[in-house]
Amino acid sequence: MDVVIIGGGIVGSSIAYHLTESGCRDVVVIEREAHQGKGSTGKSMGGVRAQFATPVNIRMSLYSIPFFSKFDERMVSPSDYRPQGYLLVTTNERHMAYLRENYQRQVDLGLKSVQLFGPEDVAKIAPEIRSDDIIGGSFCPTDGFVDPASVMNGFMRKAMERGVELMRETEVTGIQTDGKGVCGVETTRGNIGTRIVVNAAGPWASLVAKLAGVDLPVYPLRRMLVPTEPFDKISPRSPMVVDMSTGFHYRPEGRGLLLAWNDPEETPGFKTNFDLAFIEKILSRGVDRLPCLQEAEVNPRRAWAGLYAMTPDHHAVLGPVASLPGFFLANGFSGHGVMHSPATGRILADLILHGVSDVIDTQLLAFERFAAGRWIEETALL
Ligand SMILES: Cc1cc2nc3c(=O)[nH]c(=O)nc-3n(C[C@H](O)[C@H](O)[C@H](O)COP(=O)(O)OP(=O)(O)OC[C@H]3O[C@@H](n4cnc5c(N)ncnc54)[C@H](O)[C@@H]3O)c2cc1C
Repeated sequence: MDVVIIGGGIVGSSIAYHLTESGCRDVVVIEREAHQGKGSTGKSMGGVRAQFATPVNIRMSLYSIPFFSKFDERMVSPSDYRPQGYLLVTTNERHMAYLRENYQRQVDLGLKSVQLFGPEDVAKIAPEIRSDDIIGGSFCPTDGFVDPASVMNGFMRKAMERGVELMRETEVTGIQTDGKGVCGVETTRGNIGTRIVVNAAGPWASLVAKLAGVDLPVYPLRRMLVPTEPFDKISPRSPMVVDMSTGFHYRPEGRGLLLAWNDPEETPGFKTNFDLAFIEKILSRGVDRLPCLQEAEVNPRRAWAGLYAMTPDHHAVLGPVASLPGFFLANGFSGHGVMHSPATGRILADLILHGVSDVIDTQLLAFERFAAGRWIEETALL
């Protein structure tokens, strides 16, 4: 087998597809669950945005968002990309200065549609929010949402049409090495010989890396989302609205809203239970910015939790591990793995097949940056 990919989520699926785009078809994707999408991909909010702070994340989005806009045509399968925009609103000068700096960086890198707004325009884009304390914001209309499961399935379907094999209900339990590097994987269905293994195991990435003797600084962090019942106070065409003063954000979902807030008190761990106390926490922040939320109903049974795969500098880890030839990483997306899945697939395929990629400066996201202290902190986190 030329390439073994561990993990059949959106990232493993995109890598498989992009390998076939470059003519590499002897590829197997190993997924321990009976169905794809049971990891973070199936729990995601599906947000896509180019409004980041660091050039490398902006570049990943500048590759991925146009890819989503052509996805349906290219994959003959829907992505449900809805370019409804992300509106970031701020109540203080410090955040406004931050948005201005990011705006300039985004425009310099080629993002054409992002705009800075004063309070009146913010109120026009999101008339439902309380805007008396808002001093401005930033809006990019090509940001928006996709359906993560559809994107994952589209990538995998196309990859399989071209010969990629998906092994479900198969767990990778060992990674074999010899004097030259990686030489195979051990699974619950037998061993597979290969010189290239890709770790696309989402929040479980550090456990998979450990099988190869690699100490990967990726840790799981619970994130919770709360949908409302159908609610007609907000247009289904609304953008994702982010209140920078609290981190509360929401977007339309079906005939209701999907509410999100990242609790700063959350601690790392494989916790996937939904904590009922979170509802009160998120609603108190939400109602303050979105008073009509008082009229919305929330059914706790429809709320859910999933895991972000975090790194110390909140950037992904992409590419080879220098100390173990043939072992590649596509991990630690820190909440951005759905939106960056197209760029990731292309970068990994480039690095595996050609050793270089022109999508980003891949050294910036190399595994070795941690040991070398070359961190590149992303602050525009959601
Ligand atoms: C609540 C929430 C909201 C989010 N919102 C967004 C958002 O708005 N936008 C965005 O871009 N991202 C968002 N994310 C992050 C995004 O979901 C992830 O970055 C992305 O899904 C990662 O995809 P993945 O394929 O790497 O991981 P996963 O989807 O977790 O896939 C990894 C797969 O590996 C398999 N696996 C693990 N170990 C083994 C093994 N030993 N053998 C075989 N298989 C194995 C697992 O079963 C799993 O299916 C959100 C995440 C959460 C939890």
